[in-house]
Amino acid sequence: MKTKNKKVKSIVIAGGGTSGWMTAAALSKHFKEKNVDITLVESSQIGTIGVGEATIPTLRRFYSKLGLSDLDVIKATAATCKLGIEFKDWYKKGTSFIHPFGIYGQGTQEVPFHHYWMKAKKNGDKSQLADYSLGVNLAQNSRFTFPSENPESQLEIFDWALHFDAALFADLMRDYSVKNKVKLVDNKIVKVNISNDDGCIRSLTFEDNTELNADLFIDCSGFKGLLIREGMNTEFEDWSEWLVCDRAIAVQSETVGEPLARTIAHAHEAGWQWKIPLQHRMGNGMVYSSKYTDDDAAEKCLLDNVEGKILHKPRKFSFTPGRVKQAWNKNCIAVGLSSGFLEPLESTSIALVETAIEKIILSFEQTEYSQQTIDKFNEVTFLEYERVRDFIILHYKANQRTDSPMWEFCRNMELPEKLAEKLHAYKTKGDIIQYPWEIFGKDSWLAILDGFKMYPDTYDHKADNMELDYLKKNLNYMKERVKKSVDEAPSHGEFLKQHCHFTPNS
Ligand SMILES: Cc1cc2nc3c(=O)[nH]c(=O)nc-3n(C[C@H](O)[C@H](O)[C@H](O)COP(=O)(O)OP(=O)(O)OC[C@H]3O[C@@H](n4cnc5c(N)ncnc54)[C@H](O)[C@@H]3O)c2cc1C
Repeated sequence: MKTKNKKVKSIVIAGGGTSGWMTAAALSKHFKEKNVDITLVESSQIGTIGVGEATIPTLRRFYSKLGLSDLDVIKATAATCKLGIEFKDWYKKGTSFIHPFGIYGQGTQEVPFHHYWMKAKKNGDKSQLADYSLGVNLAQNSRFTFPSENPESQLEIFDWALHFDAALFADLMRDYSVKNKVKLVDNKIVKVNISNDDGCIRSLTFEDNTELNADLFIDCSGFKGLLIREGMNTEFEDWSEWLVCDRAIAVQSETVGEPLARTIAHAHEAGWQWKIPLQHRMGNGMVYSSKYTDDDAAEKCLLDNVEGKILHKPRKFSFTPGRVKQAWNKNCIAVGLSSGFLEPLESTSIALVETAIEKIILSFEQTEYSQQTIDKFNEVTFLEYERVRDFIILHYKANQRTDSPMWEFCRNMELPEKLAEKLHAYKTKGDIIQYPWEIFGKDSWLAILDGFKMYPDTYDHKADNMELDYLKKNLNYMKERVKKSVDEAPSHGEFLKQHCHFTPNS
């Protein structure tokens, strides 16, 4: 049955993890003057997933819209600055590259930079693409400074994100929401009551037999998808044919040395390990495939590679990569883990929470919605998820490791159609197609393609508008500019101490 125009006067957000509180904060601001009642239900008995500490730059745009500054958020969440992700041993054992949040070099209006660099490379130039990225060079040297507000050239442009303590970030979002009159209920949902008339959620029943009604329900209940999957029976699309990892183990450890300004993603035989530096500790974890290793071996591999004293017993997770087919089903919208999960290789889960919230806000310029609003939301959500999925698949497909069956399987797998088309265009023409609703831009794709030494057969011959000698001079100048900016920046540790030092309970 299609949804007719529906008015919303009350919203229940089911779940108080990162996604629940981010949703509550943003919606409480959006609906402030619109007379919409917002209640968040969480269960202290159940708790939250307690991981999810590496982000991408979109997070900064999210909290800035709430009026929070970078320095405030860093101080409140023991955060460090993240310039990108270092991929160790992904291409082959012993190799490493960084995916920065920024651009490479300076192209011209007609020709993107990488075509000029490829032309120089084909003519014997030995420089690396990374030499032309300020983000990569700052990250490699563990330096950090804010990007210039008035850059004189593209070479000064880079973006950055945070590594934060997820529990402290949820507290920040909770304080904001409660100040904005979001009501908080701490109770366990035991039943989702569906109306016989139209299949919408009518109410939630709690452990103490009380009931809560609303016009719109936002499911932020985590992996189980209490409302969207268990309550509404929304179908789930499984993507394990391409993404073989289905388990994770997480453990925190004491920090050793100065915090890095990058996440580390270190490939192992049957998965990969993350290292996320915070000001007060390290977040560590292992994502792996149960088909190619077992839990004990994965835990041993993780613990053998953790520096610093371990602070608690490792925690285990299992998951199925994929997404619900309708993230908005009747009067229920799934946000966060309830809507789908892609392994945290590119720190995209929280970013997908942000885009979901943004779409909810765009859907509610008025306080009502229709089937058309629902269809548009689902169409865009599908594209966002699929494009992120494809970006992650590339990291597996492009490997040249010869040491284990998992990497061999990934190297030989068939690709989803859109990804295959993208790689074909790059291989034959050097062009990087940008699809609608892609979270990662062309330079991000370029970083991964270059990191895995995937180069096109040719460059765009419009790059021949620049004489080789002149091009080489330009390239040298760019490298020098990047180097100079790095030399002038303080160390990441100094930057944090000086501007945004975290003191517990401050
Ligand atoms: C191993 C791992 C590593 C990750 N790393 C990253 C990362 O680096 N970057 C990133 O962006 N994302 C990462 N993620 C994803 C990230 O953790 C989540 O996207 C984020 O924490 C949001 O989770 P959530 O709020 O949807 O769910 P949860 O944190 O699970 O919250 C669910 C909420 O629902 C409540 N709830 C559940 N059942 C009931 C009930 N019956 N009654 C009442 N309340 C209930 C719970 O109490 C809780 O408050 C990672 C995920 C995993 C598994």
